[in-house]
Amino acid sequence: MVRLRGHHLVCLHFFTGGGLGDAFLANYRGLLSRLARGEDVRVVAGADDVCRCCPRLDGELCGWGAAAVLELDRLALAELGARATDWPELAGRVRSLTPRWWEEFCAGCSFAEFCTRPKG
Ligand code: SF4
Repeated sequence: MVRLRGHHLVCLHFFTGGGLGDAFLANYRGLLSRLARGEDVRVVAGADDVCRCCPRLDGELCGWGAAAVLELDRLALAELGARATDWPELAGRVRSLTPRWWEEFCAGCSFAEFCTRPKG
């Protein structure tokens, strides 16, 4: 079971893992492999299996901006459904999100250069 927070249910379909160091990248790629092999997702509040190797994690909070990140989690869960556990199903839901939602969700993201999400 891969533990993921709300906004990572969206970002992991596009984020390549760059910008946060080798340990983060190795852990991140491992998680993506587990998801690709069909492992289920457990949605968690706060720090998850991605965060645990992130240099920005400060205790259990995101040092990038805890309140802003929790708000992103809330937005993503409201859109995708808090009980989503199947990764391919989540991918389908993410693909069906409207352009406006992306503009609001991704606005100001500091990882945009490491994202493969089609723009426009
Ligand atoms: S930047 Fe924050 S939310 Fe993103 S992986 Fe790091 S600790 Fe987690």
